[in-house]
Amino acid sequence: MESIGCIVCGNRKTTPYIEVLDRLSQNSETFQLVKCDCNFVFLNPRPTADEISTYYNSTDYDPHNVKKNDKWGRLYKCIQKATLRWKFSKIASFYSNGKLLDIGGGSGEFTSFMALKGWDVVLQDNISNLDGINGSKDVRKVENLQMIKSAEHFNVITLWHSLEHIHNIEELFSNLNRMLTIDGILLIAVPNLRAPENTFYGTNWAPFDAPRHLYHFQLETLDNLMKKSNFKIVRKYSLFQDTPYNILLSMANLTPFQFIKGIFVLCYSIIVTLLNGPDQSSSLLVICKKA
Ligand SMILES: [Zn+2]
Repeated sequence: MESIGCIVCGNRKTTPYIEVLDRLSQNSETFQLVKCDCNFVFLNPRPTADEISTYYNSTDYDPHNVKKNDKWGRLYKCIQKATLRWKFSKIASFYSNGKLLDIGGGSGEFTSFMALKGWDVVLQDNISNLDGINGSKDVRKVENLQMIKSAEHFNVITLWHSLEHIHNIEELFSNLNRMLTIDGILLIAVPNLRAPENTFYGTNWAPFDAPRHLYHFQLETLDNLMKKSNFKIVRKYSLFQDTPYNILLSMANLTPFQFIKGIFVLCYSIIVTLLNGPDQSSSLLVICKKA
């Protein structure tokens, strides 16, 4: 385990925020989330980059690729298809084609989709068997960002729910500044600590996902991190599709009571997000440019 300072403001003085269990493990190891004076919430102490891999070994850890062919698996696939089209439309409003890098792209559904649309695509992930993942042959795969040559630049770089997993944020942003073209766009989607459903599930709120989620952003702290890293947010969106997914994963069990509560929380959350926008959505997408 290692202790860290706040990645947003560098402060080491924090107060305890909440203590959570690993939702995928049967053991009683607890993890402490802390809150900095700048409002940023993060896991501290946390497993080191070398230690974290053991926490990804659970067969239940499959956030990007539900293989089960039951009704939830089919529903997930259906939502995933609509989500791919939605992501594409957000990029297409800036660029109709070009070079794209997806960081932490997991099983490759998004990069394959973009390759089919004619994009020149690179997928980065450090999962052990990159060749075994889904994906079009047109997608180049790299294990880490150092494998991308310094002369190579991208019009679009995406981090779909991967920023909160990355240990070395300074190194990441140094690479992002190096790799993105001068007028390129950076798309970052993260769970939102201010998600309306959060308060109904307490420590069981699935996006706490300790110790895999190292950081818990909200619009304000994400904006501060972007400014510190020489980026500015130019557009922001709510990811409505994450609300039912978060609620389902946050349920302790699927009793009739939990199900009815889930329907209520879903309706409540959608209304809150419609009224308040991305600031109070389950997940946030920000599109950034170099400042
Ligand atoms: Zn701070």
